[in-house]
Amino acid sequence: RLYNEVIELRGNIRVFCRCRPLKQEEITSGCSSIVEFNSSEDTELQIVCADSSRKQFKFDHVFAPQVGQEAVFAQISPLVTSVLDGFNVCIFAYGQTGTGKTFTMEGTPESRGVNYRTLEKLFQLSEERSGSMKYELFVSMLEVYNEKIRDLLGENSSQGLKRLDIKQAADGTQDVPGLHEACVHNVDEVWVQLQAGTQNRAVGSTNVNELSSRSHCLLRVTVKSENLVNGQRNRSHLWLVDLAGSERVGRTEVEGERLKESQFINKSLSALGDVISALASKTNHIPYRNSKLTHLLQSSLGGDCKTLMFTQISPSSADLGETLCSLNFASRVR
Ligand code: ADP
Ligand code: MG
Repeated sequence: RLYNEVIELRGNIRVFCRCRPLKQEEITSGCSSIVEFNSSEDTELQIVCADSSRKQFKFDHVFAPQVGQEAVFAQISPLVTSVLDGFNVCIFAYGQTGTGKTFTMEGTPESRGVNYRTLEKLFQLSEERSGSMKYELFVSMLEVYNEKIRDLLGENSSQGLKRLDIKQAADGTQDVPGLHEACVHNVDEVWVQLQAGTQNRAVGSTNVNELSSRSHCLLRVTVKSENLVNGQRNRSHLWLVDLAGSERVGRTEVEGERLKESQFINKSLSALGDVISALASKTNHIPYRNSKLTHLLQSSLGGDCKTLMFTQISPSSADLGETLCSLNFASRVR
């Protein structure tokens, strides 16, 4: 009940925080953990600043480093169910590069993340409901890099991946004409598509990890439903978004291509922050059009859509500055 009340209050927006474990090399190089968790409250954390003062931050849920993928998924599972009930849902991972955005969303083969578990749950639920509902699931995968949208599952041409644009459909919702939608029947098929998409992401880039930290990767799940009792049809979208790294790049350190990239990233992440905080404060004007990212997600952000953001942080004393930036960003949208 409390859960629903909270959602009601904030226009369906929830913000989680997940802290990754301190790495061996960080310990070796003399870094320590500056994040403290309240053992009886899983909604707050404290940052120990350089002068030993403490700053407290509150979230809808906080995941300490030892919390595993299954326990994280348990907290978002109700959102996944609501997609089959016809709601549009967006789940984002935000944070500095190296804080676990990809770990949370994609995970690893031994430790599957949100994307895989979500699809698994959708198939399981649709099977359970098959007596009264018929569901069809499709996945699309796209990348936003320097304000250009590329289809990660589309046909490759000699020019590389297909470029896409956003159009307004007849019903007023946002559409991406030509975006490949793969019909999927089980998680194994989804896995094959995700692998192909990840492979395509690397096309034309020399360093995959570097590129992936500078572009947004979006997985879109489309659920088409038919109520077998009354014949009513519905379509909903679930977006699972691994955002570009939020770290600030010193202006003096970069120029040329890198500077352009970081300006595009700053622009789209701040546009996302503006949209979510406008939604949370129930303002009338929501500035969706300020970036490709927010424009793309327009029909799935706001209204009765549900939004969840994972704020990913590092526990290391060396990352204090970026961690505070991310936590402040999160407080703005909360
Ligand atoms: P990002 O996508 O934000 O750049 P990654 O997901 O690549 O970060 O994570 C960086 C490293 O930290 C990876 O080796 C990842 O496996 C590890 N890692 C991140 N979060 C966790 C976690 N909660 N538990 C264990 N390892 C993690
Ligand atoms: Mg990543």
